[in-house]
Amino acid sequence: MSDVRNVIIIGSGPAGYTAALYTARASLKPLVFEGSVTAGGALMNTTDVENFPGFPQGIMGPDLMDNMRAQAERFGAELVADDVTAVDLTGEIKTVTDSAGNVHRARAVIVSTGSQHRKLNLPSEDELSGRGVSWCATCDGFFFKDQDIAVIGGGDTAMEEATFLSRFAKSVTVVHRRDTLRASKAMQERAFADPKVSFVWDSEVAELHGDGKLSGLTLRNVRTGETSELPVTGLFIAIGHDPRTELFKGQLELDGEGYLKVDSPSTRTNLTGVFAAGDVVDHTYRQAITAAGTGCAAALDAERYLAALN
Ligand code: FAD
Repeated sequence: MSDVRNVIIIGSGPAGYTAALYTARASLKPLVFEGSVTAGGALMNTTDVENFPGFPQGIMGPDLMDNMRAQAERFGAELVADDVTAVDLTGEIKTVTDSAGNVHRARAVIVSTGSQHRKLNLPSEDELSGRGVSWCATCDGFFFKDQDIAVIGGGDTAMEEATFLSRFAKSVTVVHRRDTLRASKAMQERAFADPKVSFVWDSEVAELHGDGKLSGLTLRNVRTGETSELPVTGLFIAIGHDPRTELFKGQLELDGEGYLKVDSPSTRTNLTGVFAAGDVVDHTYRQAITAAGTGCAAALDAERYLAALN
């Protein structure tokens, strides 16, 4: 078993790397578990990021994350491309177990494990991500000026994305598996009243087309089995997110949708010495800059917590 560290950070998206930068600059020598597959977080799967301040010409998602990583490392953050497989966060000394079964101990833990957007699980969905396929209208809507776009889903998020996208798009087609929407009445009415938004009911996406860039969809009617083609250059998948909180169930308090609860506006969880930041907490904003902002707040909260222990 290792010595007791000041702080362990779980997750390496904008929240985790920002927490790492701040705690490293505060001489807390953070140990960061980056994850084995998706080190760098959600932005590793995208191309241009044009809304992260400081980059007037925009920056590629993986480059932005490499910069954040390098900045944290420069100040002494210890970064490990491994998964945390178990935690015990209840005592004064927290334990975090890695994939090899090694147990690491710390006085404070920052959780920034993000959330996973739900996929359609179709071939070429990953390949076309950032090349016409998106999960975030706020992030990418601007790239689709005067284009034909499809939005998949029938909840509030899907309606919000559809009406937001209609500002830029030539047309927005909402494709939904049922014949009624789950979205609130107000959101439905806004979408129905939007002249650019139309609906394809009882349908799902059967295939994505495009060689390096999305060019269209094959839709399948779930009642009749009939297929039809929808030529679109943008596809926004709005069928939900799954916060990565499995590890923390039974220890950290979750809300009804499985996100970590914090004592807002702080990043304190229900357990002393445990802080949470980024999309694992946030189902409202879900932006790199908000994740980085709460990562900073978690680092400052942890720093103050540790200072009070001494
Ligand atoms: P994430 O970035 O999701 O990172 C979570 C990290 O936790 C991952 O590295 C993962 O490996 C790690 N992790 C999870 N579980 C474990 C574990 N058990 N052990 C160790 N590590 C673990 N936002 C913008 O502001 N602008 C954009 O242009 C933009 N484009 C986007 C494009 C795409 C395709 C997607 C999916 C999202 C986009 N976003 C954009 C949203 C933005 O990426 C997220 O809001 C942001 O990445 C959330 O940061 P985070 O640090 O909370 O989590």
